[in-house]
Amino acid sequence: MPFAYYARLSKRQRAVYDKSDSLTQVLLPEPETLRPLVEALAEALAREEREQTQLACQRLLDGLTAALGVGPVRVEVLAARPHARWGELHGLYTEARAGRLPKITLWMRTARQRRVVAFRTFLRTLLHELCHHLDYRRFRLADSFHTAGFYKRESSLFHQLIPEQETLYDNGFGANGTDAPDRR
Ligand SMILES: [Zn+2]
Repeated sequence: MPFAYYARLSKRQRAVYDKSDSLTQVLLPEPETLRPLVEALAEALAREEREQTQLACQRLLDGLTAALGVGPVRVEVLAARPHARWGELHGLYTEARAGRLPKITLWMRTARQRRVVAFRTFLRTLLHELCHHLDYRRFRLADSFHTAGFYKRESSLFHQLIPEQETLYDNGFGANGTDAPDRR
């Protein structure tokens, strides 16, 4: 069952949606080589250091894009999330324009309580935005829709980087409420 907005898509968009929905995982050749970068990110975020967190995000994304054979993406980590009536923005993917690299923007703190985002949530958001990048650069899709397949690809990356029994990064907030809002 596609999501409700499928009904509003054109025939061409539906073909893109269907392709996206059919791709359910993204396999990393050697996920264990990326885990130290994940650990470094967890530590930087726990110390609440914005610049170090941004640097750790960039290193992890560089490792992921190299492993997956796609071009690089730039990351910017900002302090508190913007918010509006529809909720809080967790992350944002901006396509390449005017000779600049595509960019991922992530926010370190929740809008309301200004609390540092739980690590798993933060990593989920990073991978969510990376999945938009992969839709264009790896799967060559004309658009990047939020489909069930899209969320499965996000989860598949997450579970390769954080194996199931891993509790090291669990800071008590859990891994729920992780997806960026639909920007459509
Ligand atoms: Zn998204």
